[in-house]
Amino acid sequence: METLGHWINGKRVEGTSGRFADVYNPATGEVQARVALASKDELDAAVDAAAAAQPKWAATNPQRRGRVMMEFVRLLNRDMDRLAEALSREHGKTLPDARGDVTRGMEVIEYCIGAPELLKGEFTDGAGPGIDMYSMRQPLGVVAGITPFNFPAMIPLWQMGPALASGNAMILKPSERDPSVPLMLAELAQEAGLPDGILQVVNGDKEAVDAILDNETIQAVGFVGSTPIAHYIYSRAAANGKRAQCFGGAKNHMIIMPDADMDQAADALVGAGFGAAGERCMAISVAVPVGDETADRLIEKLVPRIEKLRVAPYTDGEDVDYGPVVTKAAKERILSLIESGVQQGAKLVVDNRDFKLQGYENGFFVGPHLFDHVTPEMDIYKEEIFGPVLSTVRTGSYEEALKLTMDNEYGNGTAIFTRDGDTARDFASRVNVGMVGINVPIPVPLAYHTFGGWKKSAFGDLNQHGPDGFRFYTRTKTVTERWPSGLKEGGEFHFKAMD
Ligand code: NAD
Repeated sequence: METLGHWINGKRVEGTSGRFADVYNPATGEVQARVALASKDELDAAVDAAAAAQPKWAATNPQRRGRVMMEFVRLLNRDMDRLAEALSREHGKTLPDARGDVTRGMEVIEYCIGAPELLKGEFTDGAGPGIDMYSMRQPLGVVAGITPFNFPAMIPLWQMGPALASGNAMILKPSERDPSVPLMLAELAQEAGLPDGILQVVNGDKEAVDAILDNETIQAVGFVGSTPIAHYIYSRAAANGKRAQCFGGAKNHMIIMPDADMDQAADALVGAGFGAAGERCMAISVAVPVGDETADRLIEKLVPRIEKLRVAPYTDGEDVDYGPVVTKAAKERILSLIESGVQQGAKLVVDNRDFKLQGYENGFFVGPHLFDHVTPEMDIYKEEIFGPVLSTVRTGSYEEALKLTMDNEYGNGTAIFTRDGDTARDFASRVNVGMVGINVPIPVPLAYHTFGGWKKSAFGDLNQHGPDGFRFYTRTKTVTERWPSGLKEGGEFHFKAMD
């Protein structure tokens, strides 16, 4: 069986802690590899090597760093199928979805080719007599990224792009559930010209994460994962004086107005609710029809679409709708939440609790489920299920639907389906959620905008990628310079306003 180690100083190395985690093939339920879990000492050594390599990389001009990004994009395209296959094998998502995972990450690397433009500072000519003032953006030094299982290519790439293009060295601690792709990304970055030591992939669990949080050299931590861990990492990183941006879980609502095109809304809901088995932080997990008549029409359209979904392993062809969930524990948790929904009085309109896939009885497959008449007190409403389960909460008015969305503790994404521009504008303006779709169910911003939720979906004050990515991974230094001409003045002892 394959043992996956770490990527340190430009090569794969074995772990030395003696601790390992199993890596599953979620479609078969078999352990296909094991991954080393780093100790604090291994993490600290990786950081020391990164710190030694970083000044030279920071001194490389940004255009050259941008060219490494350009070559990286070419290599990601070259190896797209290989990356997607490795990703699907460990994560379980379909091959087209795995290619999407790599592509949406690669688009951020593409954006980072423009590092020279994005890192340009500000300059004021003649801020005072003979005085100029300029601000420059400088890298932080060594930064760290801690990433979740559900986008093993996209999220590491979202962090690597701006972190590396800005001149930092980076420690990447990927999810221990699907570590192969992050290691492959590091190999490709090296092939693209990234110097050794600038990207260190350290696999591990809480021990490695805590070592990151307590390491004095690491200046900033980017985290993506569940809300309790996001909050923990934000608090401990901040207590240790680090910059932190920590993105957490979600419960994304989609409001369906009576005037919406119901076929379009149903198609959108099925894709956004069940794609990737619901294991997306931008998945729609709550449908909020306005009015009973709208709800009835929506359910009528949803049921046949959901019953037709093809749930199968990625190896079964490009027309598979979604694959297994990531672990047996995830499957059991989802099934027990479904049970709680039934117990607590929601109506299970599409019931696949006994779903089995012939030949894959040990795989972590969960059939699609649709609930109607869900209320906000139920566990299936309160918990992020992160599985193929769509809950319908009926509301009596637009204001009630908006309030439901706003009262939810999460604020990652939301959508409204309507033909009325006035309602759509009002929703976009008032809703307290970071990413809003209007007749678009999964409004993930493109690389040159920024990605981030509100409320308990994000801790920290800057978003991922786009201009915010470069702000997060750099700090500003402002220089006031004078090249006096003529008479020299004596010392000045008061805080001076510019003449
Ligand atoms: P997770 O929180 O379990 O793990 C994320 C990372 O934290 C992993 O690298 C893991 O090793 C580490 N970790 C786990 N437990 C830890 C602990 N006790 N102490 C320190 N580190 C720990 O999340 P996951 O299950 O891998 O990913 C799914 C979650 O991520 C969902 O909640 C999803 O909504 C969220 N997510 C959010 C976004 C976003 O942008 N907001 C994007 C993708 C996923």
